Amino acid sequence: MLGLYVHVPFCFQKCNYCDFYSEDDKNYLINDYIEALIKELKKYKSEFNFCFDTLYIGGGTPTSLSEKFLDYIFSGIFSIYPRTSFKEITIEVNPDTINEKKAKVLSLNVTRVSVGAQSFNDNFLKLLNRIHDSESVKRAVEILSEWGIENINLDIMIGIPGQGLNDVFIDIKKAIELKPQHISFYILTPYPETQFLEKYSKNLPNDDLIEKMYLGGVDLLQKNGFMQYEISNFSIPGKECIHNLNYWNLGEYIGIGASASSFFNNKRYTNIKSIEGYIEMIRKNKTPIYFEEEITADKRLKEYIILKLRTTTGIKLEEFYDKFKFNFVEKYSNIIDKLTRDGYMRKTIDKISLTTKGFLVSNKILQQFI
Ligand code: SF4
Repeated sequence: MLGLYVHVPFCFQKCNYCDFYSEDDKNYLINDYIEALIKELKKYKSEFNFCFDTLYIGGGTPTSLSEKFLDYIFSGIFSIYPRTSFKEITIEVNPDTINEKKAKVLSLNVTRVSVGAQSFNDNFLKLLNRIHDSESVKRAVEILSEWGIENINLDIMIGIPGQGLNDVFIDIKKAIELKPQHISFYILTPYPETQFLEKYSKNLPNDDLIEKMYLGGVDLLQKNGFMQYEISNFSIPGKECIHNLNYWNLGEYIGIGASASSFFNNKRYTNIKSIEGYIEMIRKNKTPIYFEEEITADKRLKEYIILKLRTTTGIKLEEFYDKFKFNFVEKYSNIIDKLTRDGYMRKTIDKISLTTKGFLVSNKILQQFI
């Protein structure tokens, strides 16, 4: 399977915790940027005659673009790879950017919308410097549903400074009331470079509270019919995100645009993290790639273990043996036995996976395998 990721690095304002590459004062470059995106995609088409299974337009805030520019992106991509050739087409939206006109454009072009709700508590949304409030999340979902978009994800965040256990339950319940097909329920990561940690370190929920939030949240989601299929991802059956599943299955993908990453032909590579730099490189017919690494057999093994153990399916032992020609359980028996005894890992005759408690400390667990 091969996925196509398109990065749209424009936002109305920067959220103070955000680590994604995006700019909030470069809208004058949008037209040139889309032109460059289309040129980069055409180059792939001429060099490799492949087809993509999924398309994911992320950011940034893709829907901060006007309808005219959204049309430009969609028509540009679909003139190279027809819309019907994709099994799934997702776009990320910020709730405040959705109106009837944009919903109409999306309804004609995508099969799935991911809404960055984060919380339904307006105080927390303000603290995070989000541009939207809880009302705009409800309005966005209503408009998108009225325009016939039947596959909607809501992002819900835990670990916000000052957030309590009950706040998390309220957010989940309010999200469920909107009847989405998918919920991403994830823990806020305070990256040092965003200065979020420095500013709020005293007010962040401690590890015990995070544990209660995560375990309680997972339980509530499951009781309401949302099946967990990855550490942070839940869906009603059959509505898992195919594009993201491909990442965790170590499938190949091509990323186009500034800062976009690709995994293709046994290499991982990333484009330059600058809108101007990206446009310039593409205009000069130079490669926009600024970092590239070969995926050796050893790296591939480690990545396979790390990515597979993020999913509830985990590592299928027969599939593992076919790929790597050794027995996973025999090689890591000490680690597996201890993790299983301590309730972090589940071992059945044909697969190994993490438990919900294991997902919570997955970073520490996964390090033991590398
Ligand atoms: S809207 Fe998304 S990409 Fe933009 S600053 Fe906020 S979190 Fe980052």
